[in-house]
Amino acid sequence: VLYKRLKNLAKNLHNSLTHFVYPAHCLYCHNFLPPAAPVLCHSCASELKLLDPIEHCQKCFNFNLEANHPICHECLQRPSLFNKVGAAFNYEGPAAELVKQLKYYNQSYLAQGMAAFLVLQFDLLKWPLPDLIVPVPISKLHAIERGYNQSALLAVHMQKMLKVSIDNKALSHRSNTFSQSSLTLVQRKNLATKSFVLNKKANVTDKIILLIDDVMTSGLTLQRCAEALSAGGPKSIYGLTFCHTSP
Ligand SMILES: [Zn+2]
Ligand SMILES: [Zn+2]
Repeated sequence: VLYKRLKNLAKNLHNSLTHFVYPAHCLYCHNFLPPAAPVLCHSCASELKLLDPIEHCQKCFNFNLEANHPICHECLQRPSLFNKVGAAFNYEGPAAELVKQLKYYNQSYLAQGMAAFLVLQFDLLKWPLPDLIVPVPISKLHAIERGYNQSALLAVHMQKMLKVSIDNKALSHRSNTFSQSSLTLVQRKNLATKSFVLNKKANVTDKIILLIDDVMTSGLTLQRCAEALSAGGPKSIYGLTFCHTSP
């Protein structure tokens, strides 16, 4: 109990410090901000406009303006483990900067505000409420470097706002059994970020799963996670990311 209290105290102290050092400049354009302002100036914050689901393929969320064909040509031809995939923003401007700050500059306090945008986009997408939120795990190497999983932070805040269940440990990285000694560090990292396994204790059977990640680029990471999840027989899988790179 004492340890828990000390841990909470340390956390509160840490939080008050992060508030204290809240940037006095806009995270994106670096203009001065008034005291107690949010992290982006008014002009940059107004650039954060959620992507319109109507303008995107209902399945892969690639740009698609053909109103008569809500599912793009590629998706009609390839089967997917996902019911639907979506993103809040394109990977550009202030939205991309928020991801970079969260991921590479230790600005974990940004996750709460970013999760609020994810919830707003979830609402616009009109997807069913998930039974379980699952974040995309990061590799052990990244976890050590970063100290936290940015997708898990987003997922936790989303889960609190949506009041649904979460399983942070449903997926983990597959520990490769073959020798990797001949691979470079970069190759090993890439391998580790693209290979997932459903944990034995995770219960996804007959559940609507919402997979959360910070960025979708090729979609391969989400795809691999969906493959791992489908081993547990979920009812359906949806994938939502803060940003995506639109082709
Ligand atoms: Zn700005
Ligand atoms: Zn598509």
